[in-house]
This record gives sequence, C-alpha cells and structure tokens, in this order.
Amino acid sequence: MAIQRPKGTADLLPGNSKKWQYVEEIARMIMRDYQFHEMRTPIFESYDLFSRGVGETSDIVSKEMYDFMDKKNRHMALRPEGTAAIVRAFVENKLFGPEFAKPYKVYYMGPMFRYERPQGGRMRQFHQLGAEVFGSDNPATDVETMALAMDIFNQLGLKNIKLVINTLGDKESRDAYRAALIAFLEPHFDELSHDSQVRLHKNPLRVLDSKDPKDKEIVANAPSILDYLNEVSATYFNSVKLLLEALEIPYEIDSNMVRGLDYYNHTIFEIMSDAKSFGAITTLCAGGRYNGLVEEVGGPETPGFGFGMGLERLMLALEAEQIEIPDLDELDVYVVGLGEETNIETLKLVQTIRESGFSAERDYLNRKIKAQFKTADKLGAKVVITIGEEELANGEVNFKVMKTGKQEKVSLKNIYRDFDKVYNLQTTDMTAFNEFFNKD
Ligand code: ATP
Ligand code: MG
Repeated sequence: MAIQRPKGTADLLPGNSKKWQYVEEIARMIMRDYQFHEMRTPIFESYDLFSRGVGETSDIVSKEMYDFMDKKNRHMALRPEGTAAIVRAFVENKLFGPEFAKPYKVYYMGPMFRYERPQGGRMRQFHQLGAEVFGSDNPATDVETMALAMDIFNQLGLKNIKLVINTLGDKESRDAYRAALIAFLEPHFDELSHDSQVRLHKNPLRVLDSKDPKDKEIVANAPSILDYLNEVSATYFNSVKLLLEALEIPYEIDSNMVRGLDYYNHTIFEIMSDAKSFGAITTLCAGGRYNGLVEEVGGPETPGFGFGMGLERLMLALEAEQIEIPDLDELDVYVVGLGEETNIETLKLVQTIRESGFSAERDYLNRKIKAQFKTADKLGAKVVITIGEEELANGEVNFKVMKTGKQEKVSLKNIYRDFDKVYNLQTTDMTAFNEFFNKD
C-alpha cells in the first residue's frame, strides 16, 4: 500500500499555497507597518524549554508534546508554540542589552506541532503567525499589539470577527482569586471531570477553561476575577479598555476567559470568528501579557506581550466569509510556438521575457494553436505572443493584448532588445507604441 501523510497533517498544493502566500504577504506588510521584525528559531528545542516556559500543567505540555530522545539521549521536542522559543532566543542572544531598541518587537511565522485529535481547525502540524513585544509594560503596547492582530483580519476583508478581552491581574490579585475559586469549586469536587479535579489545586484557573459540559455548568456561577483585582491591576485593565475605545476597536469582556498557557498575567485576549458557516472551534488568535516569562527562561526581569494566530483557522474563516483572494501569480505572457522549427525561438522568447522581469509560459507538447490559446486563457495571460514558421522566417512575432484583443506584428529584434518597453507600450498606449517602433 502506498505510504500516506501522517494523521493531522496537510499537503499544501499549488492553488492553495497561492492563497497562503497572499495571506502571508499581507501579514508581513502589516508587521512592517507596525515595525515588528521577523525572528526564525529552530523547529525543535529542548523539552525543558516548553515544560518550563509553557507550564507543566498546560494541555500542551502534559498531553500534546511531540517529544523524543535524540541519539545522544537528549530530551527534545518539536515546538508546540512560538513564544517560549522566542523568549529563549531573546535571552540567549542578549537582546535585552542596551544596544537594542526598546521595546523589542518581533514576529514569527511557521509550523507548530501538537499531538491532538484532528478535526476541523485542529491539526497535528499547524501554522502560527505570532508577534511578541519585550520591555514595555505600557498598556498602549497591549492595545497596539491587539490592534495589529485585528488589522491583519481587517485587511484580509474578514467582517465577522470579535475581540474578547479579560485580565488575570498581577500575582497578588490572582492569588486572591485563586483562593476564592478553590473555595467555590471544592464543594463541587465530586461532580468535576477528572482533569478538573487534578487541576483544582494545581491550577484552578484552568478549570474555567474546561470543555467538559458539566464543568462548564459549574463554572458558570464561579466568582469573577474582576472582583479580585487590586488597585494596580484594576487601573491597568481600565487603561487597556480606554485605549481600545480611543482607537474605536470594539471589544467584549469575558471574565471567565483564561488561556491554556500558564505564563500570562494582566491582559489576555482572543479574536474569534462569529461567521455563521464557521466550524465549532472559533478562536483564530489568542495572546496576552506575560511579565514573568523572560525571567522564568533565565533572563532579566522583562515585561512581554504577544499573540499566536492560527493560519489554518484564518484560512477557514476566509472561506466561511467567501472572501476572494487575489491571484498574485497571474501570467504576463504566454508564447504560442507553432511547428517544431519554432522550438528554439520559443524558448529564447520566454527566457528573454523572464529576464526582463515578467512571467512567461509556453507550450512544450507541440500542440495546435487552439489548444495553446486555451491554455493561455486558463492561465490568465495578459499577452499572447505567437510565432509560427512564417513569422520566424520574417524575424517577427504576433503580439496580442488579451484584454483589448488588439494585435500587432513586432520584430524579434525589438522584443529581444527592449521587451519591457514593448510590453508597456503595447499594453497601455497604441499610438505611443506605433511611434516608438516606426522609428526603426
Ligand atoms: P484551543 O483552545 O483551540 O486548543 P489553544 O488555547 O490551544 O487553542 P493557543 O495555544 O493559544 O491555542 O494557540 C493560538 C492559536 O493557534 C489558536 O487560537 C489557534 O488558532 C491555533 N491553534 C492552536 N492549536 C491548534 C491546532 N492543533 N491546530 C490548528 N490551529 C491551532
Ligand atoms: Mg489547544
């Protein structure tokens, strides 16, 4: 039997990869606007980086890691998320040093690996675009970074998205809340799912995140973190809300929202799709503030803020909203060669066109003129250049602009000498074109 790709992975085929490239280009453009710079880290790291950085009790570390021992018995893992590795690189390369701009703003894009049960929008190899900001605890950083994520969705034309925010407060607030939450949950211990029973004392906030229906029912009446914020945390959250309002970015507050990763404090957020035909899993992007993480990974105390955006889910959202993705690799020129004698000239033509910075395609199967024009049409060629035996003998080609249907004989000499001029004149202004070539 033929070998198949691993469960929970995908082959990105041409046609589809074109759509991804468009999305990636928009994302990179917006990252430039916000002055985030790309960082690329290894796809595998020490297992310990994630167990420390993401947290032992998180689903990611406790259940979903693709970890392995290498040939020298080192415990390694395929990266399940981007932040821990970026923080590691930030510390290891001493990017906190005085010679680097503060805040230090980076983004990443690439595959992540989690051993999960595959379903719509949930894969074992998936792709994230993420952004991280180091060295600012100004709430404007939180809001700017959330705005950046929203901008990507907006630029792509998504309409049915919403921003949901919450705060986890600082350590003092969270400790107070944690105690209140344990007190609330303990009487329900026997009704809780096994996972939640385990988490009740280790990490009770995670019980709020449980997907178990009975757990959900119980936590619906749980106390709210918003009632346990100390003054610093309440003020911080207020500033975030005010700044979002100043930018006129609509948001909702969900005081039961927590994040699966253990390292967050203060602001956390999710961006969800509420498109009708979108699947059951609606979170496209999630992130927040992580003021303790850089220290946890061995660096100096440095505040941080970031998010991870799932690109598969983003593509699903674009599909759900039926957003047309512009074709960036439309063909400039198709060269129709007729008769075997034109084989050399046709090859020289496509190469010349490509060297002039245009895209070009030709026929290789010695097909009839009709079949070649059909292909040119299918590829969306803007121009078709035809060369047959007669044209070859006369040292010319037929140059046809597909949109207008106008065609003209052009000497091969001119094509080889000035293809870009020929192309631009011919496709824009016939008069100027004629003047230019009548000089010869
Ligand atoms: P979920 O609750 O859906 O499992 P999560 O809390 O594990 O999400 P994060 O770790 O915050 O997700 O990752 C950020 C984003 O990455 C998610 O919002 C989602 O878009 C994407 N993502 C996470 N896990 C997967 C996966 N297995 N397959 C596809 N996309 C994923
Ligand atoms: Mg998950």
